[in-house]
Amino acid sequence: MLFDFLLKKHECQHNNVPIDVDEAYCPDCGAYVQNKWFLVRCSCCNIKRSAHTKYNEIVPDTKFCPNCGSTEFYVEELEKVNFIDVHYAIFKKIVISQEKLTTRQIWIEQEESLIEEKRLIESRK
Ligand SMILES: [Zn+2]
Ligand SMILES: [Zn+2]
Repeated sequence: MLFDFLLKKHECQHNNVPIDVDEAYCPDCGAYVQNKWFLVRCSCCNIKRSAHTKYNEIVPDTKFCPNCGSTEFYVEELEKVNFIDVHYAIFKKIVISQEKLTTRQIWIEQEESLIEEKRLIESRK
Protein backbone atom coordinates (compact mmCIF):
# COMPACT_ATOMS: atom_id res chain seq x y z
CA MET A 1 0.00 0.00 0.00
CA LEU A 2 2.72 2.42 0.99
CA PHE A 3 4.72 1.48 -2.06
CA ASP A 4 1.69 2.16 -4.22
CA PHE A 5 1.33 5.58 -2.70
CA LEU A 6 4.95 6.48 -3.34
CA LEU A 7 4.65 5.36 -6.92
CA LYS A 8 1.63 7.52 -7.48
CA LYS A 9 3.36 10.56 -6.05
CA HIS A 10 6.04 10.49 -8.70
CA GLU A 11 3.76 9.55 -11.52
CA CYS A 12 3.78 11.62 -14.70
CA GLN A 13 0.80 13.96 -14.86
CA HIS A 14 0.74 13.80 -18.67
CA ASN A 15 0.41 17.57 -18.86
CA ASN A 16 1.71 17.64 -22.40
CA VAL A 17 -1.05 15.50 -23.80
CA PRO A 18 -3.32 17.94 -25.67
CA ILE A 19 -6.84 18.05 -24.25
CA ASP A 20 -8.52 18.56 -27.61
CA VAL A 21 -7.84 14.98 -28.69
CA ASP A 22 -9.65 11.88 -27.47
CA GLU A 23 -6.49 9.94 -26.86
CA ALA A 24 -2.76 10.19 -27.51
CA TYR A 25 0.63 9.01 -26.35
CA CYS A 26 2.14 11.15 -23.62
CA PRO A 27 5.31 12.80 -24.98
CA ASP A 28 6.90 12.71 -21.51
CA CYS A 29 6.42 9.12 -20.43
CA GLY A 30 5.07 7.25 -23.46
CA ALA A 31 1.86 6.18 -21.74
CA TYR A 32 -1.27 5.90 -23.81
CA VAL A 33 -3.56 8.53 -22.35
CA GLN A 34 -7.28 8.97 -22.86
CA ASN A 35 -8.96 12.28 -22.14
CA LYS A 36 -12.18 11.69 -20.26
CA TRP A 37 -14.94 13.84 -18.87
CA PHE A 38 -16.94 12.91 -15.83
CA LEU A 39 -20.01 14.24 -14.15
CA VAL A 40 -21.02 13.76 -10.54
CA ARG A 41 -24.72 13.23 -9.90
CA CYS A 42 -26.75 12.76 -6.77
CA SER A 43 -27.84 9.13 -6.39
CA CYS A 44 -31.05 10.27 -4.80
CA CYS A 45 -32.44 13.05 -7.01
CA ASN A 46 -30.05 12.77 -9.97
CA ILE A 47 -29.12 16.46 -9.94
CA LYS A 48 -25.68 17.42 -11.29
CA ARG A 49 -23.29 18.26 -8.51
CA SER A 50 -20.20 20.41 -8.76
CA ALA A 51 -17.11 18.33 -8.01
CA HIS A 52 -13.35 18.24 -7.96
CA THR A 53 -10.63 15.59 -7.92
CA LYS A 54 -9.01 14.63 -4.66
CA TYR A 55 -6.16 12.09 -4.59
CA ASN A 56 -7.12 11.12 -8.13
CA GLU A 57 -10.72 10.44 -7.16
CA ILE A 58 -13.74 12.46 -8.18
CA VAL A 59 -15.66 13.83 -5.23
CA PRO A 60 -18.47 16.40 -4.94
CA ASP A 61 -17.58 19.87 -3.61
CA THR A 62 -20.10 19.67 -0.83
CA LYS A 63 -20.92 16.74 1.43
CA PHE A 64 -24.67 17.05 1.05
CA CYS A 65 -26.74 17.44 -2.08
CA PRO A 66 -28.04 21.04 -2.22
CA ASN A 67 -31.29 19.76 -3.67
CA CYS A 68 -32.24 16.80 -1.44
CA GLY A 69 -29.61 16.59 1.32
CA SER A 70 -28.35 13.15 0.35
CA THR A 71 -24.68 12.24 0.71
CA GLU A 72 -24.86 9.53 -1.94
CA PHE A 73 -23.48 10.29 -5.38
CA TYR A 74 -22.27 8.54 -8.48
CA VAL A 75 -19.83 9.41 -11.22
CA GLU A 76 -21.02 9.37 -14.79
CA GLU A 77 -18.62 9.12 -17.70
CA LEU A 78 -19.40 11.49 -20.56
CA GLU A 79 -18.88 10.65 -24.20
CA LYS A 80 -18.44 14.30 -25.04
CA VAL A 81 -18.75 17.32 -22.84
CA ASN A 82 -21.40 19.79 -23.89
CA PHE A 83 -21.73 23.48 -23.18
CA ILE A 84 -24.28 23.04 -20.39
CA ASP A 85 -22.27 20.42 -18.52
CA VAL A 86 -18.92 22.16 -18.77
CA HIS A 87 -19.27 23.88 -15.37
CA TYR A 88 -19.86 20.56 -13.66
CA ALA A 89 -17.71 18.28 -15.74
CA ILE A 90 -14.45 16.98 -14.36
CA PHE A 91 -11.63 16.39 -16.76
CA LYS A 92 -9.32 13.48 -16.17
CA LYS A 93 -6.50 11.83 -18.04
CA ILE A 94 -6.81 8.06 -17.93
CA VAL A 95 -3.81 5.93 -18.75
CA ILE A 96 -4.50 2.88 -20.86
CA SER A 97 -1.96 0.26 -19.92
CA GLN A 98 -3.24 -3.06 -21.14
CA GLU A 99 0.32 -4.14 -21.82
CA LYS A 100 1.45 -3.22 -18.34
CA LEU A 101 -1.41 -5.15 -16.79
CA THR A 102 -0.62 -8.28 -18.78
CA THR A 103 3.06 -8.12 -17.87
CA ARG A 104 2.23 -7.69 -14.22
CA GLN A 105 -0.03 -10.69 -14.27
CA ILE A 106 2.69 -12.87 -15.79
CA TRP A 107 5.12 -11.59 -13.19
CA ILE A 108 2.77 -12.50 -10.35
CA GLU A 109 2.24 -15.95 -11.82
CA GLN A 110 5.98 -16.49 -12.03
CA GLU A 111 6.39 -15.30 -8.48
CA GLU A 112 3.74 -17.73 -7.34
CA SER A 113 5.32 -20.69 -9.12
CA LEU A 114 8.67 -19.73 -7.55
CA ILE A 115 7.12 -19.81 -4.10
CA GLU A 116 5.54 -23.13 -4.95
CA GLU A 117 8.92 -24.50 -6.06
CA LYS A 118 10.56 -23.30 -2.86
CA ARG A 119 7.85 -25.00 -0.86
CA LEU A 120 8.43 -28.26 -2.70
CA ILE A 121 12.19 -28.07 -2.14
CA GLU A 122 11.70 -27.28 1.50
CA SER A 123 9.23 -30.11 2.04
CA ARG A 124 11.74 -32.53 0.61
CA LYS A 125 14.34 -31.61 3.23
ZN1 LIG B 1 3.00 11.10 -19.09
ZN1 LIG C 1 -30.03 15.07 -4.38
